Amino acid sequence: MSLALRCESLRLRIGEFELRSVSLELGSGGYLVLLGPSGCGKTTLLKTLCGIQRPDEGVVEVDGEEVTDLAPNVRNIGYVPQDATLFPHMKVRDNISFGLRYLHTDEQDRRDRFDRAVQLMRVSQFLDRSCEGLSGGEAKRVSLARSLVLSPSVILLDEPLGMLDPISREELVSALRDIRRETGTATVHVTHDREEAWALGRTCAVMNDGAIEQAGTLQQVFREPATEFVARFTGASNIIPVECERVNGELVGRSAFGILRMNGPECSDRAAIRPEWLQVSQGDGAISAILASVRDRGAFVELEVDAGSERLVAHVPPQQARGLTVGGNLLMRMEGRAFGLPSEEVADA
Ligand code: ATP
Repeated sequence: MSLALRCESLRLRIGEFELRSVSLELGSGGYLVLLGPSGCGKTTLLKTLCGIQRPDEGVVEVDGEEVTDLAPNVRNIGYVPQDATLFPHMKVRDNISFGLRYLHTDEQDRRDRFDRAVQLMRVSQFLDRSCEGLSGGEAKRVSLARSLVLSPSVILLDEPLGMLDPISREELVSALRDIRRETGTATVHVTHDREEAWALGRTCAVMNDGAIEQAGTLQQVFREPATEFVARFTGASNIIPVECERVNGELVGRSAFGILRMNGPECSDRAAIRPEWLQVSQGDGAISAILASVRDRGAFVELEVDAGSERLVAHVPPQQARGLTVGGNLLMRMEGRAFGLPSEEVADA
């Protein structure tokens, strides 16, 4: 697969903040979700990729060509900022076609691009409305259509689903899937939201304090977190001490509440366990625990349990939580494997 976007060793200092040697790769048609807490540098990275910010060091390539010193409008990258503003005095159709006037293509090509973007973003029913008064979801779709008419190789979306109601979110998720399926556009999608990551992403990068802490497939990042930060940010909130050893070639971790099968490259003294891997058990050999709290989350029930000296969080199906009482004893079992975390976090990896 050819690379649509590549950046290597990007560094940029702005005031107190520093983008710290960021390297990423995204194949044609790829969909990368960029996760990270507020202020970690996600927007700054997007701006550096699309040319609004110039890096102090490092390289940006689009379709194998270096674009580090090129202006934003000739990089073949579309950027839809968090607060993308439309031209309020113009109709929706004029907003969408605005960039086409700078393309040196014939009338038919422009019409085709326009029609395609309108169809993909499902905005045909309000083309003749003014942009004032569009709902948040409609305005987002118009902003995306305005970028898509230029057929960029890469599109950068800064929290595209933020602040939308659930129905508008669903509509936009479906439209973003269509872009992925029907155009070859590679997408970088910034979000804080894990469900959004799973709904759309194929690959994922987690940023922390200006650096990429881990990148890989969604499965790798969510199920094999490389650091405690990634484990916690992706929801593997149970971090417990273990005594790890290799038994018949398999890593096994002894912990205060039982023996765990472990994944990971080598023995470590801490393990990450996702809440959905812990289940209330009817069987033998399970972990004995005391139920500390119960919270119904709709699709699952969140249990806080005390197992030995550890306070753990478990997400179980509602039927498993029926009849449980706070303060009562229960048996737990592990469905997945705990993942060994590095013993010491490396600050400047
Ligand atoms: P959020 O999720 O809240 O949008 P983010 O991860 O996108 O956050 P950035 O907007 O990239 O974070 O900001 C990273 C850091 O850089 C922040 O601490 C921000 O205050 C700082 N920063 C960004 N732009 C500037 C600027 N022009 N001058 C000074 N500091 C800046």
